[in-house]
Amino acid sequence: MTARVLDGLKIRDQIFLELNDEIARLATQGIRPGLAAVLVGDNPASQLYVKSKIAACEQLGIASWLHAPSSSITTEEMLDLVDQLNRDDNVDGILIQLPLPKKVDTKKILEAVDPAKDVDGFHPMNLGRLVSGREGLVACTPAGCMEILRRNQIPIEGANAVVLGRSDIVGKPMALLLMHANATVTICHSKTRDLPDVVRRADIVVAAMGKAGYVKADWLKPGSAVIDVGTNKITDELEAEELLKSFPQRLAKFREKGSVLIGDVHPDAVNTAGALTPVPGGVGPMTITMLMSNTVKAARLRRSRAAVGATL
Ligand code: NAP
Repeated sequence: MTARVLDGLKIRDQIFLELNDEIARLATQGIRPGLAAVLVGDNPASQLYVKSKIAACEQLGIASWLHAPSSSITTEEMLDLVDQLNRDDNVDGILIQLPLPKKVDTKKILEAVDPAKDVDGFHPMNLGRLVSGREGLVACTPAGCMEILRRNQIPIEGANAVVLGRSDIVGKPMALLLMHANATVTICHSKTRDLPDVVRRADIVVAAMGKAGYVKADWLKPGSAVIDVGTNKITDELEAEELLKSFPQRLAKFREKGSVLIGDVHPDAVNTAGALTPVPGGVGPMTITMLMSNTVKAARLRRSRAAVGATL
């Protein structure tokens, strides 16, 4: 069996078309959604992520602003900046690119963001709304995984779903979203016993551990749907050879470039799973897509609520 490829780029394009329509509708009411990105310091990976997010805004006609304070910024100064963005009515979404410098109190900063502008879905109020199944802003990566499942007509209701990883930004919200969609959910972590046996019972597997190729092909129930959130950069020749021994073209590319991106699921899973997200090109593009979607949603909810004098 060769798994159906769950193409994140294709779904991104569909969602962008839908967002174009909604942005045009908002424009008729004089509303242009806007995203403010805060990038502290000069971490090259963070710079690249923020650049891609701003490029996506420009592609869709969403207004964007980049605030790039130096890494010497204090928690108090960051709180002032967040307060300024909270009060700016043109700003619908606030993105604090993580990680922040160690001396800045990250939790305090994330909790200072107005929940109505919390397009990353990290604020405790949005997490609480997710727990209780109320409308709010949901973390982008798990929201993107749900779009992949739904738009590929993967049956969720009644399915056994196994989520590997319990982080606040991926594993936990993912498990809640699957539960609200009526899956029977098992959450696994580093202390879970007999992981292969747990995974073997799953109709849907979501792997978000940060361990290259950890989930082996023979752990999967034949025909299961596999969402691979992991993005691990491999530079070690022996590791690449083990992971890619059945994929000579990818191995040749690794030798040319010196690195390859591998998910948390072993590439051989393509012969066991029924459907599988590729790495790269699966979950990755969905994270930025859902950030755009959340920014447009925040603009719609916040400005319509502002019109009737309420807050999210
Ligand atoms: P994280 O905060 O490091 O959490 C990893 C989770 O995996 C933890 O809950 C940990 O368990 C669990 N884990 C580690 N080893 C395990 C094992 N041997 N068996 C079972 N569970 C194990 O990571 P994260 O932020 O959720 O990210 C996970 C992966 O997704 C990373 O590769 C990251 O790069 C990727 N990611 C990709 C995107 C994207 O857009 N594609 C977005 C976000 C994250 P404990 O809780 O017990 O430690």
